[in-house]
Amino acid sequence: MQQRPYVDYLIARGGSPPRSGLIYDYLLAGDGVWLAAENAALRIRAPVAPADVRGLPPLGGLCELRHGRLPAGLWEACVAVARGVAATRREILFLVIHGPGGYRLLIPEDQVATPTRVAYTPPVLAVGEAVALALHSHHTMPAFFSAIDDADERDLGLYGVVGRLLSDTPEVLLRGGAYVHWLPIPWETAFAGSRGAFRDVAFDPPHRHERDNHEGADDGATDDDERARREGGAAREVRPTQRLVRTWLPGQGRTRPLARRKERA
Ligand SMILES: [Zn+2]
Repeated sequence: MQQRPYVDYLIARGGSPPRSGLIYDYLLAGDGVWLAAENAALRIRAPVAPADVRGLPPLGGLCELRHGRLPAGLWEACVAVARGVAATRREILFLVIHGPGGYRLLIPEDQVATPTRVAYTPPVLAVGEAVALALHSHHTMPAFFSAIDDADERDLGLYGVVGRLLSDTPEVLLRGGAYVHWLPIPWETAFAGSRGAFRDVAFDPPHRHERDNHEGADDGATDDDERARREGGAAREVRPTQRLVRTWLPGQGRTRPLARRKERA
């Protein structure tokens, strides 16, 4: 029997082909090159490079939680703790682990937080357990993935950041990560329930008071109308179907690229 390679290179002639590489696969599709990987908790197909490849069907991105969305109670617990810590201008990191008993929240006890980074010892996982989400807080700063975050979040995983926690306009940003390739995903892909006042930075329009010279803010349009108008329909291109979400490649004008600012000026 032929041994599977660690990494394989596949052509997606008829949709996503079966996984082949032990770690991940590169996929060539009509909309570019993708990286596909999975573990016990997640399946992710993240963009490597957009391209118009004639004759192949487009694939789009994929971020699937294999055991369903995370319970709303986990989100609420993370937000409550992060708000408490934000009062001291410190970051905090939460891990959501999936195992035989379902999802559970883990706050690494040895984490050392500064205003811009959290250092911690990765937990020792039992057989059958996997990290489903790593969520950290930017306390009073905006939610964005910094260069430090990009350097830290290099595995297969769901990554998130919350920010502006002590304001009435808090923010959240989530991405599926697959070995240094990232797919922006809506909050609703990862969590059940409601995110409350949190703005999804990658998919929602700015808060009204943050807009410059915006006309017609009080013309009676619904939030969805407003969102579609401002985003060129980006929000409507996200088509969640139960646990699966498809988005489009960054750079095609369908999803806004993630902010790439440094945390330190
Ligand atoms: Zn960060």
